Formats: sequence, structure tokens, C-alpha cells
Amino acid sequence: MSLKVGAHVSISSSRASNDPETPPYGNIANAVFRQKQFGGNCGQIFTHSPQVWQDPNIGDEEAERFREGTERDLEGPWVIHTSYLVNLCTPKEGLREKSLDSMQKEVDAADTLGIPYVNVHLGAHTGAGVEGGLDNAASVIDDIDVPDGVTILIESDAGAGTKLGGEFEHLAGIIDRTETDIDVCVDTAHAFAAGYDLSTPEAVDETIAEFDDVVGLEHLKYIHLNDSKHACGTNKDEHAHIGEGLIGEDGMERFLNHPDLIDVPLALETPTEDGKSFAWNIDRVRELRAE
Ligand SMILES: [Zn+2]
Ligand SMILES: [Zn+2]
Repeated sequence: MSLKVGAHVSISSSRASNDPETPPYGNIANAVFRQKQFGGNCGQIFTHSPQVWQDPNIGDEEAERFREGTERDLEGPWVIHTSYLVNLCTPKEGLREKSLDSMQKEVDAADTLGIPYVNVHLGAHTGAGVEGGLDNAASVIDDIDVPDGVTILIESDAGAGTKLGGEFEHLAGIIDRTETDIDVCVDTAHAFAAGYDLSTPEAVDETIAEFDDVVGLEHLKYIHLNDSKHACGTNKDEHAHIGEGLIGEDGMERFLNHPDLIDVPLALETPTEDGKSFAWNIDRVRELRAE
């Protein structure tokens, strides 16, 4: 199976290229063009600024162009990353309602765009405790009317403060509690920061075996592939270029070639700095993957 890798790209309507021949994809369909330019064939988007409560607001025509562009130029699948304000674990009623409303709009946008996955963090329990937080999150998820063909993915977290999702047990706990069929996205930088070592081939094998024991690899539908600027177990979330952080080249190489992960699509959330962009990181992934 061919490697599925891409970047988290912008859907901004600003022109995606200076080339006058660039087709006028229009707002959200620009993401397809940007993905292709980075050398990606799948990837991730926000449907709106993730720092604010805002509705996706996607017109039928641009959704159609996005679907057509994806079919023509990419392999997919895409994944939508929800707003950072969403907090599924919250004990606060107002925040719960806003989170539920936002999640409903994201899964509906995914349906409109033909995107199979909506990725969300569990959020912070802010005093409700681990069990209470997971109960709260399950209750929100089960109140969402998820369209056929769309699946909610819970992203693994770096685990700072009262945020849940840092331990694989939290991911298993939310799957157990929901009546909705949900799956998981592992972010390598987050898992590493949360204390799962990925810096040597042996550590990668052990971490994947542990994930399989606790959560089950059948639930792993997407991977956020990022290296980490901070050491294993620090709970600090800052992404680094592939192979250049503290996971490093040996860990990344094993991770990319682990037989159990070979078919799982990868979305990069690497920084654009030091003269290295998504294109550099996607190239690096292709080099490290032995095909
Ligand atoms: Zn995320
Ligand atoms: Zn991530």
C-alpha cells in the first residue's frame, strides 16, 4: 500500500499560487492545491480559525470543488481538526453546550466535504477528575448526531494539567464509555511528551505494543506525525521537524516502517522554521520510509 502522508494546510481564500494558470479552486478547495504543492496526498484542515467559536460556513459549490479536487489530485483521507476551544471533559454546562454545538457543525461540515474523520482533543476535566471528565466527554459525544461516513477521532494529548488523553487508558476509557463508534488519532509528539518513549526502535515497538494492549490498533485511524522539542515525559507540547527533535531519526524511521502502522495515514503538524516547510518534512518522511 502506498504511503499516505500530508500536511495540516490552510483553507484561506488568499490565492494559493502566483501562477496565473492556477485554477480558481475557491476558498476551502485551495487546501487541495496547497497539499499538492507540499507533496502531500492526504492531510488535515481547520474549517475556521481554531482559536474562536465560529461556524464552518461552507457553501455547496466550494464543497463540490473540494471533493472534485481531492478526487483528482490527492488520495485522501482528509481529517478536520476541531476548534481548540472545544472541551469535551468540562463540568461547566455553558462550555459543554458550546462544545456540543461546535462538534455538531464540524461533523456536518465533514459530511458536506466528503471528509471521513473529525479529530478532537478530550480537553481538560478542570476538577471533575479523570473518571468524571471521561463521563462528561462520553455524554457530549453521544449527544452528537454523527452522519454516516463520518467518524470522530480522539487525539492523544501531551497530558499537561488536567487535560485528558495523555494516557492510552483515557483513550480506551472514552471508547468504552460511548455508544457512538469512535476511533483514535495518535500524535507522536504528544504521546512522547506524555511519557511514551519513541526515540529508539525498541521503544517504538514497546509503545505500539502497549497501545495495542490498552486501546487496540484497530482503533488507530490517523497519526499526527511530529517530532518533539521536549523530552519524553515532560508533558510539554512543541513540535519539531521530523527526525530533528528528541524522538529523532532512529525512532522516526522505525515508527514509519512499523508493520502495524504501514497503512495508517499521516498528517504532519511540523513547524515552518529554519528554512524548513511542510515540503521538507514530507520529503523526509518519504526518505525514512523504506518502500
Ligand atoms: Zn490536535
Ligand atoms: Zn496533533
